Amino acid sequence: MTHYHNLICTTCYNERIPPARRKLGYMTCLSCGEKEASKVRHTIAPMHKSNYMLFTDLNDLKGINNKGGLHR
Ligand SMILES: [Zn+2]
Repeated sequence: MTHYHNLICTTCYNERIPPARRKLGYMTCLSCGEKEASKVRHTIAPMHKSNYMLFTDLNDLKGINNKGGLHR
């Protein structure tokens, strides 16, 4: 489900955002992005910190199995 067409820069509403750029989380075209980058010094990076599993303890997994009530 990737609809990257027709993505217009939210700053100048004049240029389209390149798909590769859009994937990085940018909502502006290249030229506007460069202007923003020079104006604002910190960069907002789209971090996905939730890509690790909650099951870090093997004993938790065993406990679920022993109970036997959590299978779907
Ligand atoms: Zn722009």
